[in-house]
Amino acid sequence: MRYLLYGSQGFAEHVVDALTEKNEQFASLTDRSQITAIVDHELSQLGRQVREFTVQEATPRLLRDIPFDKVIIATLDYPKAIEQLQHSGCTMDKIETNLFWEPFFLQMEPTTYCNYSCGSCSRSMLPPGRANHHLNMEDFYSVMGQFPRVKRVQLQGLGEPLLNPSLSRMVKYLRERNINTSITTNGSIKIQREMLDHLDKLIFSIDSTEPERFQQLRPGGNWTKIRAHIAEAWAYRQKQSERPLRLVYNFVVSAGNHDDMDGLCYFATQLPPDEVHIHLAENWLISSQEGYKNSRFFAEAAFAIEEQVIDKVETLRSLLGQIGVTVTYTGGQRRKEACWWPFAGIFISCDGYVTPCCIRMHPEVFHLGNGLSGDFRQIWFGEKYQSFRQGMVSSSENGICDDCPR
Ligand code: SF4
Repeated sequence: MRYLLYGSQGFAEHVVDALTEKNEQFASLTDRSQITAIVDHELSQLGRQVREFTVQEATPRLLRDIPFDKVIIATLDYPKAIEQLQHSGCTMDKIETNLFWEPFFLQMEPTTYCNYSCGSCSRSMLPPGRANHHLNMEDFYSVMGQFPRVKRVQLQGLGEPLLNPSLSRMVKYLRERNINTSITTNGSIKIQREMLDHLDKLIFSIDSTEPERFQQLRPGGNWTKIRAHIAEAWAYRQKQSERPLRLVYNFVVSAGNHDDMDGLCYFATQLPPDEVHIHLAENWLISSQEGYKNSRFFAEAAFAIEEQVIDKVETLRSLLGQIGVTVTYTGGQRRKEACWWPFAGIFISCDGYVTPCCIRMHPEVFHLGNGLSGDFRQIWFGEKYQSFRQGMVSSSENGICDDCPR
């Protein structure tokens, strides 16, 4: 079998290393000579060396010329890779879903406690056994010990991460392992210096900068206090020279707050972050779940104004670009058949359940196993995950992703 490896540098290295391990798990795929080439569409990656391979540009012509039977996609920009492959005439059945490396990205839920009760959050649906539960250090070490090569960890789930009293120790441990670490916070809690020293990315979730609107969206929230916490983190960020902390403002835009994007823009000029991320509101539930109708209605109302939102994103891009702030956007495109999660990422709830992603994060609805009472590696390579991946690259329904993000 000849493999084409399609992936960005760090990720491709991860795969090549796994191939050379001669691990029993990878018995049929342990000969590196089976890789015929490494390609990517990211211009910054082209010409780089990954072991003895030089990364080539994934043009349709090159993809037609390189001989391969299967392609391994090893990039978080999975949709773009699929698009390039399809342009070259590669069919979905050539995509290797029998993966043989551990996930590149791990999202772990530090807690299901929260100090807010936002109307759009599915935390209110947690069953009694899962509500108000912290990930403890013992379980955290147990999870991390099973992922020796993971490159990125995001500590975020349904609760407010900073409420977990052990969060700072977790972040420090991840830094010591040289793992790129991020958290998303609602900004209500002052962030200690030790935490800032060890984080790579700090994401503030801000859905309005207008105090009254903020109160409506985040019952219990106080914008003035949050602004002060953001300003402290921003001041810390300004003083850093080496390994700067990346500061991100994440704004979930819905029909109820899209007119606050101007306020967000103004705020970002006052305390400029590295990135402003605009995320169109989406539906986190599937049709069998209680609350689905409301959640779907909320998402559909956002999708209905997507054109206006995109126009506004472009305006923000040109205004904030002038002061060096990157503006990114996640919209409402259908994800099924073009989603990287099942191939590269894993979501682990604070009680050890593996779910396919952070969108479908309720294990009582669907999960792929529990790694704290079992083995994450077996789950990742298990039949249930493989069949979920097969379902992702085919047009058949799988009951979980079919409407995502609607
Ligand atoms: S629900 Fe499915 S398609 Fe949507 S993000 Fe999760 S894994 Fe991807």
